[in-house]
Amino acid sequence: MQSAIPSPAVRVSNVSLNYYTPERETLALSNVSLDIEEGDFVAIVGSSGCGKSTLLSLVSGLIRPSQGDISVGGKLVYAPSPKVGYMFQKDTLLEWRTVLENALIGAELLGLDMKKAKARAQDLLIRYGLGEFLHAYPAQLSGGMRQRAALARTLCPDPDLLLLDEPFSALDYQIRLALSEEIAAILSEEGKTVILVTHDIGEAISMANRVIVMSRRPGRIKSEHRITFPSYGAARPMPLAARKCPEFAGYFQAIWDELDMHQVQ
Ligand code: ADP
Ligand code: MG
Repeated sequence: MQSAIPSPAVRVSNVSLNYYTPERETLALSNVSLDIEEGDFVAIVGSSGCGKSTLLSLVSGLIRPSQGDISVGGKLVYAPSPKVGYMFQKDTLLEWRTVLENALIGAELLGLDMKKAKARAQDLLIRYGLGEFLHAYPAQLSGGMRQRAALARTLCPDPDLLLLDEPFSALDYQIRLALSEEIAAILSEEGKTVILVTHDIGEAISMANRVIVMSRRPGRIKSEHRITFPSYGAARPMPLAARKCPEFAGYFQAIWDELDMHQVQ
């Protein structure tokens, strides 16, 4: 699918990030470089506190690097852009707005044509199985439904690049599996470039075509794994099918060993 973003879709060059608080200075990321091509689905894995969310916030333009540059679509990132959708770990739905009104928040903030935005939001919500809940309030939804509503809100302005920060981590395992299957289907249909942050190795391998492993703080890129499933044939399997492919266990073991998961913090 043609998109407005030329190649590479995202370039992170020699980026470091320091956080300053009255008590201390924290080097959260050190010298991170990464190129992401249009249509890539990149998963970033690493233990808690290694700087995954920081990296997404930098790509989104919410924070600026202490050193280095970030560009999206060939343009240096200085501030959040409508071309980039950012979905946080917590769904951040507004409890006093209906599901449809929540899905329209991004479009409102960006000053988009609200008639068109409403039609798209409705269409997305219906496709995500929330057609009967357009005028319901978030409190009436299950955890999985809330995440789908949050995804509709993120996709409503039609961003080229989607940043997902542990979108399934608050959900039970079974729901997480089902939702990652649904979201993978939605995203491959929409042809978006995606960066997914997760600490779940299986989720990363089953959804992404590239898995980037980050080291402990200060976060650095430790390694990259290109994920392919030749046993499945030329097409990319959906996440549940990917988990059943013989290649899956090999990737899992390699990434597990690199992550040092037995040294739980
Ligand atoms: P992850 O998402 O991988 O768990 P984060 O990017 O949230 O990691 O955090 C990386 C490091 O930076 C952690 O040590 C965290 O405590 C610190 N940190 C994150 N946000 C801030 C902030 N706003 N101010 C100070 N330190 C922060
Ligand atoms: Mg995080």
